[in-house]
Amino acid sequence: AILDQQDKKLKEQLSKIKHKIMVMSGKGGVGKSTVAVNIAVGLSLQDFMVGLLDVDLHGPSIPKMLGARDLKLTRRPDGRLGAIKYSPNLKFLSIEPLLPAEDSAIIWRGPIKISAIRQFIGDIDWGELDYLVIDAPPGTGDEPLTVAKTIPDAYALIVTTPQEVSLIDVKKSIKFCQKVKMRILGLIENMSGFICPHCGKPLDLFKRGGGQKLAEEMGIRFLGKIPVDPRVVDTGDRGKPIVGAYPESLTAQAFEEVIRNI
Ligand code: ADP
Repeated sequence: AILDQQDKKLKEQLSKIKHKIMVMSGKGGVGKSTVAVNIAVGLSLQDFMVGLLDVDLHGPSIPKMLGARDLKLTRRPDGRLGAIKYSPNLKFLSIEPLLPAEDSAIIWRGPIKISAIRQFIGDIDWGELDYLVIDAPPGTGDEPLTVAKTIPDAYALIVTTPQEVSLIDVKKSIKFCQKVKMRILGLIENMSGFICPHCGKPLDLFKRGGGQKLAEEMGIRFLGKIPVDPRVVDTGDRGKPIVGAYPESLTAQAFEEVIRNI
């Protein structure tokens, strides 16, 4: 009966969210969280109501990237907890603000992770949203699987970098989506070319365009390329995502193009 009730709450909450996007990658360090944050902030700047859910339970990075580590969950008048308000249009949730200390290591087994993620979506009030962007940990483990099972109408957005190894990992992500019947929104090639800090122009650093080729080969959409830009690191560390901090930059424009393609 408790599970039935939770299912009901989940369905009710999910029915108030128009579009659900899970950002995934085959391996870590390709910029998946950076992409999730900039897409969420970018959409919110276009006046959409956006939620950003960090289901990376072992390495949550969303609060830091948003510069919002001090913000706490809100208590609604009916006693329910609400997602954390970042701006009038953007709410987020991560395991980090729920932990006693920032460096507490989490040792959780699959079933606990599954129930935590289900609670993040069903028990926490997100209200009405145009978009829910979900940052999943790299790979194809319990967390992306739980999201796929809990949100049957979610789309996957796969992030890769131009290097060959990373492209092999993309194929694994695509296979995962096919297996769990998750529709794929498309592929983003991050760290594609380099924006020179001196002249502001793009330079090729690694071979570019592998992502586009792979997308064509695998029959999925290519959503765009994001260059390597030192300001991405800086703005990420300062908690001011580049789409908001430098909206005129080529990198912010590249994110905007991705958002247009979503
Ligand atoms: P993931 O979520 O895939 O592990 P992150 O988003 O945490 O990756 O990014 C890893 C590191 O790379 C971070 O320090 C981030 O600032 C940096 N980074 C991500 N994308 C870019 C980019 N386009 N240009 C420069 N640095 C980037």
